Amino acid sequence: MTDKDVLNERQRTKRPPFELQRVHLHPGDFSDVDTTHARHDHLGCLPSFSRAVIHIQNDELAFARAPGAEQAPTLEQADVAALEAAALENRARRWDGDGGLVPGISLHRVGGHTPGLQVVRVNTRQGWAELASDSAHFDENRTSSNPFPIFENEDEVVAAYERCEELAANNQLVLAGHDPHTRVRARWRGLEDVLVPAE
Ligand SMILES: [Zn+2]
Repeated sequence: MTDKDVLNERQRTKRPPFELQRVHLHPGDFSDVDTTHARHDHLGCLPSFSRAVIHIQNDELAFARAPGAEQAPTLEQADVAALEAAALENRARRWDGDGGLVPGISLHRVGGHTPGLQVVRVNTRQGWAELASDSAHFDENRTSSNPFPIFENEDEVVAAYERCEELAANNQLVLAGHDPHTRVRARWRGLEDVLVPAE
């Protein structure tokens, strides 16, 4: 599982536990959760994945633990608490840079949007696809090298666009985190069953 969307009082009926039920999966069944970065629309619903190993970059964990971070509107207290609980239970695997998670899935720190943002590369029938998460909110951010105006380090954001293109088999398989075209492209590519973009 890679990222999980927001779950808060305003959006109690939103994804992903509810989406997972549609395909007869339960959050408690997941062994691994790749957290691309610590913002509520990606870290959300973490308490539901109570048995999974949480994969997160060291830089991102430090970002989530920074003084005052818990007050940020982009973080849910329950998610941060679940992350800390996972750490206490030795279920938080911390990464520094790039690494293979299992054959066919690898994690790559690119930073920029947040200090330890990581993208996820997945080997598919079409070749290596890349879940770009918020390293590229929309395709146009990447293709025009025009960063979405929320970032911690603009130089890293721009460098991440190039890195995204290096990691994927082709640019059509760089799947932007918030772009509605991602769902269309995943369907066209026959990847819809494994890729559900954020909204
Ligand atoms: Zn996001």
